Amino acid sequence: MRAWPVRPLQVSTATLTLGASLFFAFACNGSFLAGALAGRSWSERSTWVFAGALLVMLVCLHVLVLSLVMHRAIARPLLSMLVIATAFATYYMQRYRVFLDPSMLRNVLATNPAEAGELLGWGLLPHLLLYAAVPLAVLWRIEVRRTSVLRAILARLAVLAISAGLLVASLLLVFQDFSALMRNHKELRYLITPANFLYSTARVVASGSREARAERMAVGADARLDGTWNGSTRPVLMVLVVGETARAANWGLSGYARQTTPQLATSNVINFPDVSACGTDTETSLPCMFSAIGRRDYDEDRIRTSESLLHVLRRAGFSVVWRDNQSGCKGVCDGLPQEPLNQSTVPQLCSDGRCHDEILLRGLDSIAQDSQGNLVVVLHMLGNHGPAYYARYPDAFKLYRPTCDTGELRKCSVEQIVNSYDNALLYSDHVLSRTIAFLNERAYRFDTALLYVSDHGESLGEKGLYLHGVPYAIAPDEQIKVPMVWWLSQGFLARFSLNRSCLEGQAAKPWSHDNLFHSVLGLLRVETRDYDQKLDISGPCRR
Ligand SMILES: [Zn+2]
Repeated sequence: MRAWPVRPLQVSTATLTLGASLFFAFACNGSFLAGALAGRSWSERSTWVFAGALLVMLVCLHVLVLSLVMHRAIARPLLSMLVIATAFATYYMQRYRVFLDPSMLRNVLATNPAEAGELLGWGLLPHLLLYAAVPLAVLWRIEVRRTSVLRAILARLAVLAISAGLLVASLLLVFQDFSALMRNHKELRYLITPANFLYSTARVVASGSREARAERMAVGADARLDGTWNGSTRPVLMVLVVGETARAANWGLSGYARQTTPQLATSNVINFPDVSACGTDTETSLPCMFSAIGRRDYDEDRIRTSESLLHVLRRAGFSVVWRDNQSGCKGVCDGLPQEPLNQSTVPQLCSDGRCHDEILLRGLDSIAQDSQGNLVVVLHMLGNHGPAYYARYPDAFKLYRPTCDTGELRKCSVEQIVNSYDNALLYSDHVLSRTIAFLNERAYRFDTALLYVSDHGESLGEKGLYLHGVPYAIAPDEQIKVPMVWWLSQGFLARFSLNRSCLEGQAAKPWSHDNLFHSVLGLLRVETRDYDQKLDISGPCRR
């Protein structure tokens, strides 16, 4: 029996490489070409020259990269994997306008099955048929011709030389345009597919192995409670709440047209309306906001290989617990007690492998009960994690309607998307208020405080953008400005001689994630040479 009605097409490895590169350049780089040619007029000859040169460069670039790894024996499986990965990549790049840079790749690789499930929509199917099934069908009808070693080497060298020559020639032809484009829009290179995710994966893997080798650099090695603690008998209980994807623009307390924070509004909190996040995605922001380094001296490798604020607090004698309803602490709580609650099966709170954020409050009581001394609990929320905003809140919080009840945002109007997003904020407001009530009830035993800050914002259709993760340098405010709220009990204020009206004055100023490390150390009066009073928000407010 014959597998194919006609004889398979015989081609050389070099021809296959060229064919694959043509496919990638012409079929998979729409986002890159659209970005590179934006604002140009097709009535001008230079636009056609520039577009032609870009296409030649794309083909040559992929020929060069593929020529380095192509071998007859692995050509078809290798290209098949590339075609499938590229089909997924182009789908998300087109749909969500994402740039596949190393930090986005880190996010993709750290995605858990529940998150991935929400991103898979039916819209993916026709895209995969066109961009994966069709090329795969062609690919598997082709047979790669066997040639002598000498001929193969000569052919490979010729292909490398020709594509390198063409690449240089087309680059020189449009050099002025091209260098200006790359200078002004560096991020565009992360739209060149599949080169973008191949490069980013290599970067992430390389830095991952560096991280694994490195012992975390000590931070606050000399940390200890300062003199104001002498003679105090009551323990401190601080809850740090790390929000998710909550943006300042929709935060009721910060002046949004809708009151999305009705419970916090009556909870005597201090609201910070102008706070900038360190990154536009969890993988960047989380390590950064808990580090002493921050965005001002941003160095991802150094942040990921240094101890965090939580390690400093531990050294000063606090018990530290990380409770998680999301995708883990990204190294921030390495070696410290962790309670992953996202896999819980509490029927009222959990379904489809996800739990509502009130799961974070279950068992908090016994942690406080069992605690001997000072305690810092981190609650890592699922918050407003998209695109399935509608799944983030129980029905009781479905106040704004109509909602977008699918993860496929393109099927909804912006109004529906915003309604679902705002309902999720209403629910976060409720979870935070319940946490404050919990701390109030513990005031007989502890001096208590709560700090809430979101990790990054979210785009809800502004400038055609959705979700988050746009490279930091070009990210819009919607993705960078986040809400922050402090609640300090009377006991806490009195004990640390904090002036509340001074703090309210401070809250009106612009701040960023860079201030978190130093403000928590300042509030808890932890002394270390790594503490910088200039970055401590409460610094001027202690009597
Ligand atoms: Zn996040």
